[in-house]
Amino acid sequence: TFSPAMHNAAFRHLGLNAIYVAFAVKPSDLVDALRGVRALNVRGLNVTIPHKEAIITLLDDVDTLAKNVGAVNTVTHEDGVLRGFNTDGAGALETLRENGVDPRNKRIVILGAGGAAKAIALTLAPMAREVTIANRTVEKAEALSQRLRTLYKRDVHYCGLNSKNVKTVLREAEILINTTSVGMYPNAGETPIPHNFLHENVTVFDIVYNPRETRLLREARKVGAKTVGGLGMLVHQGVEAFELWTHMKPPVEVMKRVIESMV
Ligand code: NAP
Repeated sequence: TFSPAMHNAAFRHLGLNAIYVAFAVKPSDLVDALRGVRALNVRGLNVTIPHKEAIITLLDDVDTLAKNVGAVNTVTHEDGVLRGFNTDGAGALETLRENGVDPRNKRIVILGAGGAAKAIALTLAPMAREVTIANRTVEKAEALSQRLRTLYKRDVHYCGLNSKNVKTVLREAEILINTTSVGMYPNAGETPIPHNFLHENVTVFDIVYNPRETRLLREARKVGAKTVGGLGMLVHQGVEAFELWTHMKPPVEVMKRVIESMV
């Protein structure tokens, strides 16, 4: 995990007497680990696979977005209350904005329907003009689109992740977000969609951050599309968490420099 280096650099920069440490916790120890958090008055934590879902029932309170996503990645501990959040969606939104991309009233296509897709789709759907979820397992795309329709009463479509469907939905797309793990190291030669469907009027955001420029981003850049890599989201999901824990303005540039030196 890159989180200890990123958060400790931010603590140092702000002169805070705090430290972020990583613990490997077995699923069978999650209850005890949280008891330890309470007993030791740990100020906050991040959780990752395999605890993101299981932790929900063990917390005192869970933010609405995290509840809807069904996964928590950040926990605050204030006045004895453990409260869960999911910062992936806010991290993705901030990354788009930082790159000059405004998702409001845009036609957005999301490849994937896993944990990251859910957080991003739930964050962007209320402001988008139209959202389409394309996933290899079409039932998961259907379930997510149904959830978005119910929650936000928005125009949400879904389809299987195959060439024919993607060709059709990409024609009108203004923002394409890859949330599948396709193209991630060590399979950097792979891409979720054929390059000939990409066009210069679509912004391509790939949340995969290793490699920094995935094959999808390289091919999008070659057709003149604007591209956004996944490193920014890695930083901004941490920035959001830091703010939740400290209620202070996080030193974004410091955190970004640490991540960039490590990935
Ligand atoms: P997840 O819940 O396991 O979901 C994985 C998604 O990828 C599913 O939609 C899955 O489709 C799809 N997929 C996997 N292999 C595929 C293949 N060969 N062909 C087509 N689709 C495939 O994982 P996640 O937590 O959402 O993470 C997904 C990716 O995002 C990972 O690479 C992760 O590193 C990255 N990520 C980045 C950030 C960041 O801060 N930049 C944050 C979170 C995640 P099925 O449903 O059909 O299995």
